[in-house]
Amino acid sequence: MTLTGVLFDLDGTLGDHDSSVTTALTAWLPTIGMVADQETIARWHQVAETHLAAWRRREIDYSEQRRRRLRDFGLAYGKEALDRIFAGYLVEYEKAYHAYDDVPEALEMVAGKGLRIAVLTNGSATQQRGKLARMGLADLGPVWTPDDLGMAKPDPGAFRGAVARWGLRTGEVLSLGDRHDLDVLAAREAGLRAVHLDRLGIGPVGEPHRIGSLRELADHL
Ligand SMILES: [Mg+2]
Repeated sequence: MTLTGVLFDLDGTLGDHDSSVTTALTAWLPTIGMVADQETIARWHQVAETHLAAWRRREIDYSEQRRRRLRDFGLAYGKEALDRIFAGYLVEYEKAYHAYDDVPEALEMVAGKGLRIAVLTNGSATQQRGKLARMGLADLGPVWTPDDLGMAKPDPGAFRGAVARWGLRTGEVLSLGDRHDLDVLAAREAGLRAVHLDRLGIGPVGEPHRIGSLRELADHL
């Protein structure tokens, strides 16, 4: 089947989530009396992944996964206080959020080949659309989140739901993302093609469709 569209992940693929988190934590942690050292930042990522995974399984809602992150991070407060504290972090995170420098050229290349572009992201609809807007990518194409689809990656239903709303067939869409489990394996299970964007070179090295930057994407279209 001819390729018609490329379905991009957002965080870690188009937007530099990790370095935005580091910048945000460096500014924000001292405001809550914590030191922004490497160990603390690594712990933040670890705690975030634990509770985001529970949210992806639809066990808790998005606000609750944020509160659980803060509680695991040693902040023993009630719901309202935790929401207020997280809002302080979010201001810094959203301010820091930016696109990777290989994004404009890659999007131009994909569009130049006559392919359609959309985004499928595991995040809240408001937050993810806000990020795209701040990166100047508000008009990139359709954007689907678990808020829109009722399910999150790695549920193959998230891919099937997005592709159906796009009006395409799964076999004519390529999924591209930084998480091998969420963006590649789950996409293939749903019948899409997939390429792993392994920016950090962490593998899996046996993945045949693996690129280190968006500059290599043309070889896979
Ligand atoms: Mg990602």
